[in-house]
Amino acid sequence: MSIHKQSVRTFFNGKIFTANPEQPYANTMIVRNGRIAWIGEESDLERIEGECMDLKGQRVIPGLIDAHMHPLWLANASKQIACTPPFVNSIVDLVEQIRKSCKVNETGKWIEGWGYDEGKFLEGRAPTRWDLDKAATEIPIFITRTCTHIAVVNSKALELAGITRDTPDPPGGEIDRDLNGEPTGILRENAKDLVHCIMPVKSLEENAASLAELSTFLLSRGITAITDLMSRTEPIDYLEMYNTAVKKGLKQRTVLYYLWEDLKDHSILHSGNINNANQIHIGGIKLFADGSVSGKTAWVNPPFLGDEENYGIQTVTKEELLAAATAAEQNNVQLVIHAMGEQAIDFIIDTFYGKKGWLTDGPSIRIEHAAMPTTRAIQRAAETGIAFVTQPIFVFAEIESYHNNLGPERTKKTYPILSLLEAGIKVAFSSDAPATAWADPVNPFVGMKSAVTRLAYNGADTGQIQKIDIFTAIMLYTKEAQEITRIPHVGQLSVGNHADFIVLNKDIIEVRPEKIDTLVVQETYMSGNLVYQDHSVKLHTTSN
Ligand SMILES: [Zn+2]
Repeated sequence: MSIHKQSVRTFFNGKIFTANPEQPYANTMIVRNGRIAWIGEESDLERIEGECMDLKGQRVIPGLIDAHMHPLWLANASKQIACTPPFVNSIVDLVEQIRKSCKVNETGKWIEGWGYDEGKFLEGRAPTRWDLDKAATEIPIFITRTCTHIAVVNSKALELAGITRDTPDPPGGEIDRDLNGEPTGILRENAKDLVHCIMPVKSLEENAASLAELSTFLLSRGITAITDLMSRTEPIDYLEMYNTAVKKGLKQRTVLYYLWEDLKDHSILHSGNINNANQIHIGGIKLFADGSVSGKTAWVNPPFLGDEENYGIQTVTKEELLAAATAAEQNNVQLVIHAMGEQAIDFIIDTFYGKKGWLTDGPSIRIEHAAMPTTRAIQRAAETGIAFVTQPIFVFAEIESYHNNLGPERTKKTYPILSLLEAGIKVAFSSDAPATAWADPVNPFVGMKSAVTRLAYNGADTGQIQKIDIFTAIMLYTKEAQEITRIPHVGQLSVGNHADFIVLNKDIIEVRPEKIDTLVVQETYMSGNLVYQDHSVKLHTTSN
């Protein structure tokens, strides 16, 4: 992001939506040394300064901020088997894909896959170790479910991890077993780590290179600021890895949220690391209060449909939550808690109800996903200033799981975004990519379409009364996401901010809602510099 020389550019003839409520529209912007020096209507401009940049009447919006994602997983997922449509629609397909991978596999290498969802499989069930054994018995296989909270492994992987019928469930995790008590290969929550911890780790340099590669892809989706919600200190420190990625070409402004369990023994939350003036910095402490709706591990009430005993899993104690909050407060960072089910959300909000925030530049506590807040939870979260970071792409892409696990009526009540906003809760959109069963999980326009139409990809109604307009959807990916992630000087195209913006091939405000996900980013600018240009579409043709 360094600015090599004094530079001035005037961008004119744009249809700019600024995301600044005080001045939502403009057509001209003067950028000096990467910052917006003036923005408004060309007719009010005394003189054009510096280099002239014609926006050719295209729609321009601020660079998008993905407030909850997993860039390293996303980067690595592209190197693994995608266990999602269009290639994998059944367990049979899955086994076939793994067989193909095995053929080109180097000895000793694990086969990894991501994104399966038994709700989408023809067989209507999850794969087991015995299914995966049909692909390979000598090569270990590790397949992560779409929710990332559940994995299935083959017998070889169980053997290497030493998991047998006598292995007890670890705290906060479950080893699925058949009627005879044999592990089925399905590992839930913390049980995944029993296998994960013996898998070979990529070097810091390799991972940094993958992140740098991903950076360009994210720019092609209009994303100029990112977050990593699973940052670790071991075996590789993420801060160091991301800083190395910057040297290799990572351009996004990046906030890291470290897992609480890693921070207990490492005092890395010092002022140099949390300074948000740095391109890479630490923003908070992350914990999990439950699992996922699609994996039936969210801590819900009432129980899951047709599974009267199953209220999901609680994955944090009140003591841990309070200890993490104290650490967050002492170190002046955010407390960020994953919670999907009603009980998980209530648990957090009841624990912190009425607590005064400790941060001065944004919400001190965030609830991630927040799929099923009750009316009471919404009220109390609003009163306490707890922010919600949610992913409208979930119910859009995973509708089968929501219908199977909650039923259609309860599904329509999930992600009540309009109600959250009306109650005065701060809300940001995000993707949680790659933890979504969708071929392009990080695409912000898919999430925006879902929130604006409240229809799933298959046309199912996901709650029409919670529809929001496209302006709000953009705000939740820009201005509101900035206020929650606290990345300085982004999110709105206004004087003093970085000139991070995107040029779209069609007008997102005029386009029919069902077409929002067909939008293509033509150009992405950061600090007023062109950092991405789409070559597949002829630039600056007619809008709409
Ligand atoms: Zn996540």
